[in-house]
Order: sequence, then structure tokens, then C-alpha cells
Amino acid sequence: MFKKIVIATGNKGKLREIQHILSPLQIEVIPQAEFNVPECAEPFCTFIENALAKARHASKHTGLPALADDSGLCVDALQGAPGVRSARYAVEANGLNLSQNENQDARNNQKLLEVMANETNRHAHFYCVIVLVRYEHDPEPMIAEGLWAGEILSEYRGDDGFGYDPLFLDDKTGKTVAELPLEIKSRISHRGHAMAKLLQKLEKLSNE
Ligand code: IMP
Repeated sequence: MFKKIVIATGNKGKLREIQHILSPLQIEVIPQAEFNVPECAEPFCTFIENALAKARHASKHTGLPALADDSGLCVDALQGAPGVRSARYAVEANGLNLSQNENQDARNNQKLLEVMANETNRHAHFYCVIVLVRYEHDPEPMIAEGLWAGEILSEYRGDDGFGYDPLFLDDKTGKTVAELPLEIKSRISHRGHAMAKLLQKLEKLSNE
């Protein structure tokens, strides 16, 4: 098993959750920002292709095993949008020209409220795929996915988390993600499920 792993994201919310989930392991988890890894293009229309691109890119620039998450919100009434475009939904929909690094969460949520204003079908889910490559051209990347079903609210609730958390109601707890503590989100979220599956695969590998 490797001793160090680079996390291929600049998203602080994701980073916090991934570090929290990996904290019981004896692996040093290093954000790619510490290696000044340049931004990776995400031109693909599926989560898995974008996740693979990000993991390979981070491994190429660091020489380390790399873990990438590609995730997003898929709304039934919007035919799966914003989907892979979740991070830059408002920028792209409104034709704005803002820096890649600028935090777009407030604008994205505002855009979602607008397009869902008259919609009665509020079903949606978060999707996450995690990819781990041991080296840039790893032909056998480890892949795990997770899903979290819920509803889109018509007003914000809660202050924690990131992204669409204040608008996404978890059916089972009756709370928005922004109202859930990190420990709970990490157990029941799309990212939590994907990471749990990945950890099982890693354990299996280390016992072989
Ligand atoms: P990515 O960095 O291209 O994978 O885009 C991820 C985007 O999906 C984030 O910027 C959020 O807008 C959204 N997203 C993914 N996971 C979550 C989550 O756990 N909570 C809220 N929004 C999320």
C-alpha cells in the first residue's frame, strides 16, 4: 500500500470531506495545491472521464498516486443538469467570464432557484465518482461511485458545507446538507458512499 497520496482538487469543501474520510488510514494525504499543480481541463460530458483526466493530471505533475473526485448535482426536471457542469453552472448559463478559481457557489444556487422556480418535480441526486491512479498511465485505475437522492428546496437552509448543500434536502433526515454535521454527511453522501467503496477495494488489495 502507498504511503502518500495527492488529492486532485482545489475545491476546499471536497478536500475537507475527503481528508476527513481518509483520516483513519496510515496514508499521508496531500492537496495538489501544495505541489502547485496547474488547473486541469474538464472537457468531457461524463463524470468518469473528467475524474480520470484530473487524477492522471495530478499524478503526472507530482509523481505520486492521485485520487480525484468528479461530482455534481443532477436534477430530474432539468434532464440531469447541471451535472458535470455543476461547478460552473451560473457562469456558463449566464455567459459570464469569471476566473476558474473563483468560488461560484452563491451564483450557482441562485441560478438553480431561478430555473426551478415554477417546477413541481423537485427530485434530484448528487453523483460522485472517485478515481485513484497509482501513476499517470495506470491502466487499472481504481473506480468507485456513489449517489445521494433528495429534493431541491425553493429557499436556502443551513450554513455548513459547500456547493448546492443549502438547497438539497436529504429525504431521510429531513435536513438540508448544509444542516448536517460533517460526520453525518461523510457517512450518507454520494462522496461518502463512493469513498467507502474505494476503501473496501483498497483493503482487499492490501490483503492480497
Ligand atoms: P467538480 O469539481 O467539477 O467535480 O464539480 C463539483 C461541483 O458539484 C461542486 O463545485 C458543487 O457545485 C457540486 N457538488 C459536488 N458535490 C457536492 C456536495 O457534496 N455538496 C454540494 N455541491 C456539490
